[in-house]
Amino acid sequence: MALSHGYAALARNACVEPFEFERRSLGSNDIAASILFCGICHSDLHAIDNDWGFHSYPLVPGHEIIARVTAIGPGVEKFSIGDVVGIGTVIDSCRTCEPCSQGEEIYCETGATPTFGGADRLGTMTYGGFSNDYVVDEHFAVMIPPMLDPAHAAPLLCAGITTYSPLRRANLQSGHKVGIVGMGGLGHLAVKWARAWGAQVVVFTTTAAKAADALRFGADLTVVSSDLEQMARHSGSFHYILDTVSAPHDPTPYLGLLKLDGTLCMIGMPAEPLSISSMMLAWRRLIVTSSMTGGIAETQEMLDFAAAHGIKPEIERVGRSQINEALDRLRKNDVRYRFVIDMGADCVDHP
Ligand code: NAP
Ligand code: ZN
Repeated sequence: MALSHGYAALARNACVEPFEFERRSLGSNDIAASILFCGICHSDLHAIDNDWGFHSYPLVPGHEIIARVTAIGPGVEKFSIGDVVGIGTVIDSCRTCEPCSQGEEIYCETGATPTFGGADRLGTMTYGGFSNDYVVDEHFAVMIPPMLDPAHAAPLLCAGITTYSPLRRANLQSGHKVGIVGMGGLGHLAVKWARAWGAQVVVFTTTAAKAADALRFGADLTVVSSDLEQMARHSGSFHYILDTVSAPHDPTPYLGLLKLDGTLCMIGMPAEPLSISSMMLAWRRLIVTSSMTGGIAETQEMLDFAAAHGIKPEIERVGRSQINEALDRLRKNDVRYRFVIDMGADCVDHP
């Protein structure tokens, strides 16, 4: 079997470096695909830094994968050789539990298999998309609509579906006031979805310099979250707030901005637990919730929606030799708005 070439962190907080490993051989329902692009999500960084405490090394990150199909197993029906496909955050699940049978594979009761950094059903460690190829059951790959540019489509596989899924369930309409907290990889796409559903969109940011971009992406207004006067002007006015912040922070100020029965959805994943006053929740009968990426069918729906509405992520394209620099800039909140690795560019380490 040919070896796969990837980039792995060999220890917590380490830079990634060239790493060779084996993918499983092609099963009946598997596709093998050559990776063209892979987005860099803050979850890749949380994993490299072992912020959540359950990762082990070597760790090949990457779960926003765009790839071209190079081989198909005899049972494959959805794809042909040459198709451009997407692979997101999960690559297997039990397929029989209630969430799986409802198309919510990510919530599989026995635990979905993550694209990287987890054990698959045979107990083998999964290696992600900072690599040259992937082998996956066709059920867990999605078709990239031809109208989407493949490099720009990459961030949709995690940042896109993670923001689309809760906002879609919120049934946003014209007249709803929606807040997006943190405008990074997830946040900037949340602005675009919320706009497409006709909501009034307000971005809460710590980076005043992002204000013009927020308006360009479809926001009506930007509030610098450290400005208490600006914050107070919005007290009790929001139907829904989506918090995408990657760092520990106090969500209490956002609870004060919600209307009666308003929802605060916390999809950012800093490791520290939240501290929230039940008095504050009772005061306006508020809902605090979260959401995990999305199911496979919903991911396909999101890609088709993006193609139909001309929604595309804002990306900074980097070559393989720039991955560590990009990770470092992501740590410093210095990205506009998603790094995407071009796996074909500047092949200095690997053939
Ligand atoms: P990102 O591109 O780094 O964006 C995070 C944004 O948070 C930054 O752009 C910044 O926005 C804001 N921020 C950063 N540090 C902050 C601080 N100290 N205080 C307040 N705001 C701060 O990250 P991402 O890739 O969008 O991911 C965001 C989070 O979502 C991560 O924790 C990631 O693990 C998580 N995530 C969750 C899921 C899920 O299934 N729920 C899926 C993917 C990712 P401003 O400059 O605008 O303030
Ligand atoms: Zn992600």
